[in-house]
Amino acid sequence: MANVVVMLGPPGSGKGTQAKRLVDVLGIPHVSSGDLFRHHLSEGTELGRMAQKYMERGELVPDAVTVEMVIDRLRQPDCEEGVVLDGFPRTLTQAEALDEALREQGMAVSVVPLIHVSDEEVIRRITARRVCKDCGAVYNLAFERPEEEGVCDVCGGELYQREDDDQETVRHRLYTYYRETSPLIGYYFAQGLLVEIDGERPMADVQRDLREAVAQVGEPG
Ligand code: AMP
Repeated sequence: MANVVVMLGPPGSGKGTQAKRLVDVLGIPHVSSGDLFRHHLSEGTELGRMAQKYMERGELVPDAVTVEMVIDRLRQPDCEEGVVLDGFPRTLTQAEALDEALREQGMAVSVVPLIHVSDEEVIRRITARRVCKDCGAVYNLAFERPEEEGVCDVCGGELYQREDDDQETVRHRLYTYYRETSPLIGYYFAQGLLVEIDGERPMADVQRDLREAVAQVGEPG
């Protein structure tokens, strides 16, 4: 049975970093809607230009466009064995569209880990986040500093701060999360798919709980 993991949690909860580590173990693709949008943006596509104005303001890109982009990605052959979704779905409409698309492919969401992190911690983490322009590696000036300031340890690329990672936009993204995305907690809880994880612990502990949650999928009880 294909594993479809939906990572849930506020921006800055570490779900992206945790998702990347998880796919290394599971050997299935990591599909991040934010990364897909940023890719379109850097390629200068029409979709990227359209998404940019929403991203800059910390608002959600309209459902129709987002759903089409992500579902297209899920139809690629490498997703047949499963996928770890990160940043999608973010609204009930997206969650329902995902369910329908998966059903057509004979699949279903298997588990929804929810990473809990307080608002203060979200703001502290995100404003300290730096990303490599070339390879996308993520650093944090508070607890995962690069060896040389401003330079990527992996590829030597230049580190930058995402435009939507400044304090004011982060507050707006959090507001958007509570308004649009938090209803998904109830949606997945009602289906018995939610697994809550305390995200304010060392990264390795969070990863261990996450792997446990995924491993228990389908086990009775
Ligand atoms: P992220 O990297 O997941 O924090 O996403 C960055 C930005 O991309 C968000 O603030 C939104 O503007 C946009 N975005 C990413 N995923 C979605 C989604 N599922 N629905 C709508 N907008 C999204």
